[in-house]
Amino acid sequence: MENCIFCKIANGEIPSATLYEDEDFRVILDLGPASKGHSLILPKSHAANIYELPDETAAKAMVLAKKMATKLRDGLNCDGFNIVQNNGEIAGQTVFHFHMHLIPRYEGDQVGL
Ligand code: 5GP
Ligand code: ZN
Repeated sequence: MENCIFCKIANGEIPSATLYEDEDFRVILDLGPASKGHSLILPKSHAANIYELPDETAAKAMVLAKKMATKLRDGLNCDGFNIVQNNGEIAGQTVFHFHMHLIPRYEGDQVGL
C-alpha cells in the first residue's frame, strides 16, 4: 500500500534495525521503545488491523511471536514479557499497518500499557 511506513519498512524500502526476516515478516526494534528490546512484528503484506489480517498470516504471526519472545528472553534475561497488539485509535493504534509489540519486562520498570 502506498504511503504506509510499515509497508516500506517491512519490505526493506526504508532501512530499519532488523532482528529477523523471512518471506512473510520483518521484526524490527521499535523507534520509541517502552523497554530495552521492545520490538515489532510486521507482516510484509498490508493489513490495517487484525480484522483485515488473513488467518494464515495471523497464525504465522503468533508462532513467530512465540519464537521471538523466547529469543529476546534468553538474550536479554528479562523478568517477564508483554505481547500487545492495538486496533483503532481509541485502543492506541498510531500506525495503521498490523503489528505486534514484543515488550520485554524488567523488575521495577515503568512501562505503562
Ligand atoms: P501502535 O501505537 O500503532 O500500536 O504502535 C506503533 C509503534 O511503532 C510505536 O511503538 C512507535 O514507537 C513505533 N514506530 C512508529 N514509527 C516507527 C518507525 O518509523 N520505525 C520504527 N522502528 N518504529 C516506529
Ligand atoms: Zn502497510
